[in-house]
Amino acid sequence: MGDLSNLDRTVARVLREAGVLLDLELDAAMGSNGQAVCMCSDGDQMVDHVVHQIRTASRGGKPARLHTFALHGGGMLLSPGSGLYDEHDVAGLLHTHFVQAESPDLKGIDTAVLSIHTPCGAAAMVGMSLVAQIWHLVEAVRRVQAIDTNNELVATLHVDYGQDEAMIARAIDPDLLSAIDAIADIIDAYSVQDRFLLLPPDTHRRRTYRIDTEAFVAFWHKDGREIWGDLFDKDPCPPPRRVTHSTLEVLPPARPVPMGTTSQGRQADDGRR
Ligand SMILES: [Zn+2]
Repeated sequence: MGDLSNLDRTVARVLREAGVLLDLELDAAMGSNGQAVCMCSDGDQMVDHVVHQIRTASRGGKPARLHTFALHGGGMLLSPGSGLYDEHDVAGLLHTHFVQAESPDLKGIDTAVLSIHTPCGAAAMVGMSLVAQIWHLVEAVRRVQAIDTNNELVATLHVDYGQDEAMIARAIDPDLLSAIDAIADIIDAYSVQDRFLLLPPDTHRRRTYRIDTEAFVAFWHKDGREIWGDLFDKDPCPPPRRVTHSTLEVLPPARPVPMGTTSQGRQADDGRR
């Protein structure tokens, strides 16, 4: 995994300013019966990601019950056109996992969390920008929503902004390190199970944002296409076609409807194609 690219850093900043990337509210998005999470398996980000999820749930008074599907690329894998592992139908497999996790017969999970991150080695492997990652996540959200109309669905972006000088200085502060050791001794003495949460100080600035996917689509039509449209061979979300007077003039005349064909029958035919 490399450092955050200048493009992806700019994308994150612009989308923050545009209201597409939002703070992950503590009392939202964590469900009352656990979270089915699809995230990248990146070991350099896993601890921060999982600890953040647990803290978010517990501070919001929700159970931290992470039912996790971790594969290279994370939530965008639920978009069949992501270009990642298409030969394995990973999108289909993950859909099945979500259905099962949310089934009352299995876990009854009531929140789906689809997460991507940057910098992501899987995205870099296929030359995918953060903009393309988000588009695949938008498609993934659509597909999960289609099978999951009752439960909450949250799209998130985890950004590792890299090492931070102030955080490095704090991480080697002897007073802080000895305080952590003292707390660890107390926790061990009482056999508290969440000892693992007492981790060494992080030296990277990392953030997890909620992605407002509808705001992203609106942003694309307003500004995004103009700024980042040249990243794509084909527009990932072409502008809606408007029927104009001149368009109507060139439409072919309507064909006569054969006798015995009802409007319902025609709809059924359309549905089968
Ligand atoms: Zn990754």
